[in-house]
Amino acid sequence: MVENLPITVLSESEAADSCGGDAAIIGLELDILSEPVCFHIGITKKEARLADIVPLVRTISAKITGTVVERIRREGGCIPCRRGCSACCSFLVPMSIPEAFRLREEVLAVSKSYWRRMQRLSLLAAQCILKQKPPKSFVCQTTGTPADSPVEPNVVSSWYANLKLACPFHYKGLCTIYEQRPLACREYFVKGSAGVCRGGRGAADVVEVPMRMADVLGQLASELEGTDVEAVMMPLALVWCEENLDRDKQRWPAAMMVERFVKIVKTIEQKNFTAVIAPA
Ligand code: SF4
Repeated sequence: MVENLPITVLSESEAADSCGGDAAIIGLELDILSEPVCFHIGITKKEARLADIVPLVRTISAKITGTVVERIRREGGCIPCRRGCSACCSFLVPMSIPEAFRLREEVLAVSKSYWRRMQRLSLLAAQCILKQKPPKSFVCQTTGTPADSPVEPNVVSSWYANLKLACPFHYKGLCTIYEQRPLACREYFVKGSAGVCRGGRGAADVVEVPMRMADVLGQLASELEGTDVEAVMMPLALVWCEENLDRDKQRWPAAMMVERFVKIVKTIEQKNFTAVIAPA
């Protein structure tokens, strides 16, 4: 996989060992459902691309969702979502720009044949999407043409659901990139009956998480690049990346990127839950 990242998550002991070294450390303390969690973020003096912050964000997202799931189960609730369930894998999955570029390099790192296969499947998905006349706002996001008027997200979601287009990374009932799956997949889960997800009986409600890291990444990329908050449809991500490789070459000081990330987290926590920067 991709190594020597300028931004990493350190364990407590790694953070203690690196004190006084070259790497700076920013501590981020979150209060997740009244449970304090501290992350030690190691930063080198190198510059970072948008994709370089994704592993950190995935780690934080996993901690937040894990805490929420554990709390619900402790209180007797049922979360049927698990590895191997693909009930949502034909839903619309938006990816932030940093995630799209990170996924591109993760797919490339597997093998050339895997890369070619995934590109082929992505192109087929793109053809299917464009053939079915997407709502105008969706076309604008994928072609760069300015939108005349925004379309409600649920209109786009319903249109997409009608396509019944499985995710290109879904194979034989499994997610083939489970550890690298988008934040939208990680942060979407339900409480209740599993059957209802497949059109059966029962009831299930989407679980609200205190903070969606997908939103944080979208905002960070928007601030750094000076663009609107953008998202790419999952099946189009690899195709989109090839068309926008210049954006993957942009670099920012890693410390500045992490500080802005933490600032966005703090702004959102003021609305949703307590997050403070802890002294390193
Ligand atoms: S990335 Fe994985 S979990 Fe997400 S929609 Fe695709 S197959 Fe399903």
